[in-house]
Amino acid sequence: MTKSADVDQQRDDHRAPVLEINDLEVSFGSTRVLKGVSTQVSFGKTLGVVGESGSGKSTLAKAIVGINKPSGGQIVFDGRDLGAMRPRERRSVTRQIQLIPQDPYSSLDPRRTIGQTIAEAIDPVRSDPKRHREAIAHWLSVILLDDDVALRYPHEFSGGQRQRIAIARALAVGPKLIIADEVTSALDVSVQAEILKLIDALRTELDLTMLFISHNLDVVYQVSDSVLVLNHGDVMEQGAVRSVYAEPAHPYTRALLDAVP
Ligand code: ADP
Ligand code: MG
Repeated sequence: MTKSADVDQQRDDHRAPVLEINDLEVSFGSTRVLKGVSTQVSFGKTLGVVGESGSGKSTLAKAIVGINKPSGGQIVFDGRDLGAMRPRERRSVTRQIQLIPQDPYSSLDPRRTIGQTIAEAIDPVRSDPKRHREAIAHWLSVILLDDDVALRYPHEFSGGQRQRIAIARALAVGPKLIIADEVTSALDVSVQAEILKLIDALRTELDLTMLFISHNLDVVYQVSDSVLVLNHGDVMEQGAVRSVYAEPAHPYTRALLDAVP
């Protein structure tokens, strides 16, 4: 997991943000859920997104991966406007964005072994068994699980282990952007701490570019460089995580921080 020359090269190439969102609006029927969200994420950085339940965090995640269709604004990924693409092109581009949801069952097929799942993530046409074996071993070591895991099925694991496997599957795709949506919210506090430690190690060692979404401000603080505060679909404020937490500019953020036990 050492940084390669490739990664340094990529960083030089990526002075432009990996993700840039301009005035994004998403509505369901007559209800506006995102009311003009603008933000950006640079290569190798993590943007935390916080806000109470119902503030539109998952709606934002789903808009970026193309599940929710924006009613206004722009999503620019890797320098390209997703809204201007044909569906087939957009699907191939958004494959480079991996969404890890709260419930890992939605990204892990219960009928496939962990090894099969990782193999499919690296190589959807399943053409090269030797490459698969190496990749499976590699990604299992990255998430600190033993090799024998490859032969087992998702239901054989605890919630925390399943979330590790979902992370491995997302990483195996080789994404340019990872969106983690409440990935620790269903876990016990001690397991949550382990997963956060893993994510924090991975984001620095692999230079991940990430959107890390959680209603839990402590969790976001631990793994984010900058933070965006969402309330009823509006951005209250955003900035470097340390300065926003130390000196929130908006009363809503202050209230959220005061509510943390
Ligand atoms: P969060 O992830 O911050 O908890 P969501 O983005 O899931 O919030 O939801 C924001 C609001 O949008 C909620 O009021 C929710 O009911 C509504 N919403 C989300 N998805 C849909 C949908 N597919 N159809 C209608 N309303 C939706
Ligand atoms: Mg949500």
